[in-house]
Amino acid sequence: MDVHNVEMVMSAVSAAQYPTDGKPEIALVGRSNVGKSSLTNTLIQRKNFARTSSQPGKTQTLNFYDVEDKLYFVDVPGYGYAKVSKAQREAFGVMIEEYITSRKQLRGVISLVDARHEPSEDDISMYEWLHYYNIPILVVATKSDKISRGKFNKAESVIKKSLGFSNEDSDFQFFSSETKYGKEEVWRWIENHL
Ligand code: GDP
Repeated sequence: MDVHNVEMVMSAVSAAQYPTDGKPEIALVGRSNVGKSSLTNTLIQRKNFARTSSQPGKTQTLNFYDVEDKLYFVDVPGYGYAKVSKAQREAFGVMIEEYITSRKQLRGVISLVDARHEPSEDDISMYEWLHYYNIPILVVATKSDKISRGKFNKAESVIKKSLGFSNEDSDFQFFSSETKYGKEEVWRWIENHL
């Protein structure tokens, strides 16, 4: 999709604040620093639109970006940030659970993992949880410019194995915000799920 217009329409902490116009939504999840803001900016062809969500103490909100008046990207706060308190983590859990389990407009979730490493415990829990709720999932392995093409197959199988990846409801894509590798494929997946 060629994106010309993006607007951040809402930072929501509860369901009452979600947009009400019924446009389809694609949520983006991943641990802090995985490259979620970079992927968002690459998809919407902006340099600095989405900011990293990992600052400690920052209010954890779901951020809704209206893309081309066609869909919303829903930026879910990065998980696994060590300095976030237990209370904050629990509040985050409640908020995302409420969103994922009750949101009719949600068409799919892009779950980001680092292409270079085995998924973390948090990555695995998130994947299992989305899978449990039958949400279509695109696992995106970010920062793929940091591994050689010759290592792609191995990295993909390591990630899929530790996630317990299911071909039934999930797809997989390498991505790089540096080289834009995978951008078209991620967009195609999104458009196929709207
Ligand atoms: P977020 O916390 O998940 O939103 O992560 P950011 O998008 O802010 O990225 C975290 C760090 O990883 C930044 O220093 C980015 O420049 C870097 N980064 C993100 N994506 C890529 C990528 O595809 N390739 C490389 N080499 N670095 C990346």
